Amino acid sequence: MKKYFPLLGLVLFLTNSPINAQTTQAQTDETNIKKLYTTALTEQNGYKWLTKLTNIGPRLAGSPEATQAVKDFAVLADSLGFETTLQEVTVPHWIRGEKEESYYYFNGQKIKTNGCALGGSVATKKKGLQAPIVEITSFEELEEMDKKALKGKIAFFNIPMDPSFIFTFFAYGSAVKQRYVGAVEASKKGAVGVIVRSLSSSVNKYPHTGSMTYADAKKEIPAMAISTYDAERLSNHLVVEPGLEFFYKMNCEWGDSTVSYNLIADIKGREKPDEIIVVGGHIDSWDLGTGAHDDGAGSIHALESAYLLKQLDLLPKRTLRVVFFMNEEFGLNGAIKYAKQSVKDSVNHVLAMESDAGGFSPRGISIVAPDSIIKKIKTLRSLLEPYGIHQFSQTEAGADIGQLSKEKTVMIGMRPDGHRYFEIHHSELDKIESVNARELEMGSATFAAIIYLIDKYDILIQ
Ligand SMILES: [Zn+2]
Repeated sequence: MKKYFPLLGLVLFLTNSPINAQTTQAQTDETNIKKLYTTALTEQNGYKWLTKLTNIGPRLAGSPEATQAVKDFAVLADSLGFETTLQEVTVPHWIRGEKEESYYYFNGQKIKTNGCALGGSVATKKKGLQAPIVEITSFEELEEMDKKALKGKIAFFNIPMDPSFIFTFFAYGSAVKQRYVGAVEASKKGAVGVIVRSLSSSVNKYPHTGSMTYADAKKEIPAMAISTYDAERLSNHLVVEPGLEFFYKMNCEWGDSTVSYNLIADIKGREKPDEIIVVGGHIDSWDLGTGAHDDGAGSIHALESAYLLKQLDLLPKRTLRVVFFMNEEFGLNGAIKYAKQSVKDSVNHVLAMESDAGGFSPRGISIVAPDSIIKKIKTLRSLLEPYGIHQFSQTEAGADIGQLSKEKTVMIGMRPDGHRYFEIHHSELDKIESVNARELEMGSATFAAIIYLIDKYDILIQ
């Protein structure tokens, strides 16, 4: 008998050892994660929901469509078994009005440009605005200009997004100043209007809108974005005819602030109901397209990831909450309201996730958390690599969840492939046709897998 003991020992070791338990755990995780991706890719509920959402139309904050979207999705979430709440949010309402017009004459020929008012801009006079246009290629150049250098003129900011950035959000960051504060800075030098190069990573004929501010400007001058194609052409023409005059007409205006809503949809945790895992996107969009990527995709990632976990009986121990934030684009009202109310109600968010970088193939996540937590989350990488999820960065997680306290909450942002995002961002190209169903579904499954793993292994700030 004696000689069999070691063998028995080995058998016991194989069945009871922590190593074996770990192997089984890893196999269970692999199987469950595979199920999440398989269900997402075969059922494609998210893509159907995104189609439904974009069919409502553009969802500019304060518009009836934005509120309609929240209400329709509350009904949908209800039917999927979530406990839903509509949280009132007062939002501003800016209206674009009639289609803008813009052109100039070069060499005696009328050159029409594709332009759109920037969000929040004032209108031009009814008959439009015409004045000599002056190109500015950097803020340093503007700074060095004479105090009245732009008196009676239109400033033309032509600062391309830096193409050398691999993470295109940095390229966006490198150029967004002209759109956001171009009007303020140009008016300081006497400009009567401002035209900015669209923030597009490619040269195309679509103007891209986006938010702007007048901050403490003494004078509010009308601000328009023209397409990158038009910006390059105008720049070339200005070399030949430096004094040429530009004409544009916009009749945008501010409407009254209105009441709209955040959608909050919960599935109560069975073991730790007071610990909240929140996953969200913003439901409002710009008005030129239908916000399929920005941020219809993100809202769908949030809803579908939660629903996948429910469908497959992989719900977290904690309460899983989906939030569709209202009005990210015009000042984060929904996120601010949600965060303030959470403080009042002492809501304990242990994990907050946001997708607001488009619905392209997910490549990874960005984590904002203490180093020890980041280290642990990075150990999950091998489980996600088969799905192309490999970039674990630490930039920022998202503007909406960014309103929550970072002290106790692990923050995670979706990081999809960004090479095409800024070609369509805030333009009429941001519509359902620019979203690939498989890529979208991969995002939902990725968020589901991450929620599942973080909750299971309690990778949270204790
Ligand atoms: Zn967005």
